[in-house]
Formats: sequence, structure tokens, C-alpha cells
Amino acid sequence: MSADLRPIIEAPGRLSAVRATGLLDSDVEEVFDRLTRLAVTLLGVPAAFISLVDEHRDFYKSACGFGEPLASARELTGPTFCHYAIQSAQPLVIPDTAADPRYRDVPTVATLGVAAYVGIPIVTADGHALGSFCAIDLKPREWTRVDIEVLTELAASAQREIELRGALSAAERVADLLQAQAVELEMQSTELEQQVEEAQTISEELEHSSEQLEIAHAAAEQARCAAEAANQAKSDFLASMSHELRTPLNAIGGYTDLILMGIRGPVTAEQAHDLGRIQRSQKHLLSLIDSVLNFAKLGAGEIEYRIGDVPLAAALRDADAMILPQVEAKALTYANHACDSAIVVRADREKLQQIVLNLLTNAIKFTNAGGHIAVACDVVPDTDSGTPVARVHVRDTGIGIPPDKLGQIFDPFVQVRSGLATATTGVGLGLAISRELAVAMGGRLTAESSGEGSTFTVTLPCVHGCT
Ligand code: ADP
Repeated sequence: MSADLRPIIEAPGRLSAVRATGLLDSDVEEVFDRLTRLAVTLLGVPAAFISLVDEHRDFYKSACGFGEPLASARELTGPTFCHYAIQSAQPLVIPDTAADPRYRDVPTVATLGVAAYVGIPIVTADGHALGSFCAIDLKPREWTRVDIEVLTELAASAQREIELRGALSAAERVADLLQAQAVELEMQSTELEQQVEEAQTISEELEHSSEQLEIAHAAAEQARCAAEAANQAKSDFLASMSHELRTPLNAIGGYTDLILMGIRGPVTAEQAHDLGRIQRSQKHLLSLIDSVLNFAKLGAGEIEYRIGDVPLAAALRDADAMILPQVEAKALTYANHACDSAIVVRADREKLQQIVLNLLTNAIKFTNAGGHIAVACDVVPDTDSGTPVARVHVRDTGIGIPPDKLGQIFDPFVQVRSGLATATTGVGLGLAISRELAVAMGGRLTAESSGEGSTFTVTLPCVHGCT
């Protein structure tokens, strides 16, 4: 295409207008063919065309009068006369193409033998030239005013038809859009219906769940009442058992004392020996009953804790005093590696002493004469939380605990059979109770035994002197 044609033919606004017709590469249509036939007839020419021009070629929406290959191809690449018609923006009238230096090199002069040309630009309402309505002759010809007027009328008709197409396709597009929106709405409405159904199902399920919840709640309430009643019954039972068992045992103890004191008359040495046995058995039985009742109370959550700041060294000294007679009686050595007096733990003082006493009693019980028992304490960071904890270690050089039994000795009624343990040494509740107490005070009770003897460790939260 020549340089002076290019800016007009390739103007973006014009190209968009051509594409917007929707006619590029469309099939032939009778309505346009009728117009070109009319031109051929009325002007008496061999051929007439309606062309649409894009940046690549002339597309012939209608071509009347030319045979193959143009009839099938329906397009020509430029430059063509049509380009010049668009450029001139008015009827382009060329009586003799070969004689006109401006046009004689247009390819169709040679290829199709175009000798005379008249073309009316087809222009849209907003001024874009889409192409042209043109007629040609194969010999030079003086185009008359009537020829030009007729062709102008026919070009106007073609233009109206093209506009009609545009309006029609716009209407079709709107219709398509509306149709698509209708389908979308239909889908949304179906979806909405589904959602409503789902919501209804959920609401029914919720209603059902809420009924179930109410039933479960009522059942839980019933169970709670039953548990409360059972707990109350247990408490009543414990209180009455405590009374019923202790009263006769205390009577046995009391009367044994009276007899031993000689108040009921002289007592022989043999009788005194037997009475001593009765006395020891009575005390043992009393302590067993105490253990069982204590354990039962723990399980029923009936133990009250008076938690406060307890200076550790002082609490341990009190426990010392209580076990020294037993230590001496069994010919053991005892060392209390005095705790730092600054260490203060959070605990119930009595419960702490109960635990330590139980550990010391066990240490004495399970250590042979000549053995050694020691109490020591230290402060370390807690393995889980990292906060400081105080530890009390009760060590003995006694019979020790087999590794496979270490995990069981804290379970209630567990006793490791050994040469020292006899039927009268306990019921296996001391450690179970001690551990419960330690845990309830926010602490721990653990055991180690390797080689000689055992070490029991009570761990409690440290509040002062913890560095
Ligand atoms: P009891 O002392 O009444 O048997 P415990 O719960 O206090 O009950 O102890 C459970 C068992 O743990 C004991 O029977 C004993 O086998 C073992 N045990 C406890 N302390 C020691 C210890 N210091 N040395 C060896 N064994 C021990």
C-alpha cells in the first residue's frame, strides 16, 4: 500500500467501525447482491461491487459481474481503486484509468482490465468510510451525472442495510445478554432454592440436636444428682465406719492398759507379754483403719487443704522429732542435712509432714539394723514449667525396690514382697495417699532405687529462698 493511503486505510477508528459491521468474511446475501445487480443493469456496466476495506484487503460483500477466481475469493489486496475512493471521501470518477497517471499503476488495471471506474465511499453516520460501492467498465467511459447519482443512491441503500445489520446484531447481542442473564438468574434461583432447603434441613437438625442436648442435659443432671447422693452416702458411711470401728478398738486399747497397769488385779509376766501383743495389734489395726479411711476420704475429695507459705527446714525438724525413737529402736543412723532455712514452699504444713513422716517410716521399716537414713533438700527449676521447685529427698540404705516395681508402689494396696515385709507392716496405702496429697498441693512424689537402698523425692512449688 502506498505511503499516502496507509494513514487513512489503517486509521484505528475506521478499522473498528469496519469490524463492528460484523460483515467481514460473511456469506453473500441477496439483499446486497440485488443492489450490485441493479447497478450493473442501470449503469450498463459489466461489474459492480460493494467492498469493505480493512488493513489487509478489500472484502467484497457483493461482487456482480466477475467470474472466478474473484467470485470465490471475494477479496483483493491493495492498493485498489476502492482505497482511493475512501481517500477522496467523495465519488471517485475515473473515465480512463490507463490515461490517468495517478491510477494507471493500480494492479487491477492490468489484472482485471479495469479501464473505467466510479466508486462512492460508504460512510457511517459518524463519518468513517467503510469501503465503497463501485462500478467498472472494461473500456474507457465517460460517467454521466445520472450514473453517479444512481450509484450514490445504491451506496446509500447499502449503507442503510449495513447500519441495519449493526443495529440488528447489537439487538441480538442485547438479546443474548438478556438470555444469558435469564439463565444466570434461573441458576441463582435454583441455587437459592437449594440453599433454602439446606437451611431448612440444618434448622431441623439443629432442632433435633437441641432436643438431644436437652435429653443429655437432663441425663447428666440426673447422673450428677445420683453421684451427689452416692457421695453423700459414702461420706455418711465413712463417718459411721470411722466411729463404729474406732470405738471398740479404743475400748480394747483402754481395757488392755487398765489390766496392764494392774488395776484389775495382779498381772503375770506371761499375761503382760500377751497383753503387750494385744496392745501392739490394737494400735496397728487402728493405724490401718486410719489409712483406709484417709484414702477413702481422699477419693471422695473430702480432704481439706490449708495451703500457705511453709518454711521447709522447720517443717522437717518437726518430723525428725517424731521418728527419732523408731530410728534408735532399730539401731539405724539418721542425718538431717539441714535445709536452707530461707526456703519457703507453698503447701499444707500438716500434709507435708504427713508425707515426709510416711517416707521416713517406710525408710525405717525397709532398712535393716545398722543402715543409714538421710533427709536432704535442694531447689531446682521445674522440668516442665522452668519455675523453681523445692525438693525433699528421703534416702535409705535399705532393701531397695526392684526396677519393675518402681512404677507400681504408688498404686493403692501394692506391696513388694520381700524378706522384711510381713503381714503386719501395712496395707500398701501410705505411698498412694502421700502421692495424692503431694499432687493436690501442686507437687509430685517420685521414687528411685538403684543398687543399694531407695530415694523418695517430694517436689513442691518454691516461693522464697529459691535461688
Ligand atoms: P506399706 O508401707 O503400708 O506397705 P506403702 O504404700 O507405704 O505401704 O508402700 C508400698 C510398698 O512400697 C511397700 O510395701 C514396699 O514394698 C515399698 N516401699 C515403700 N517404701 C520403701 C522403701 N523405703 N524401701 C523399700 N521398699 C519400699
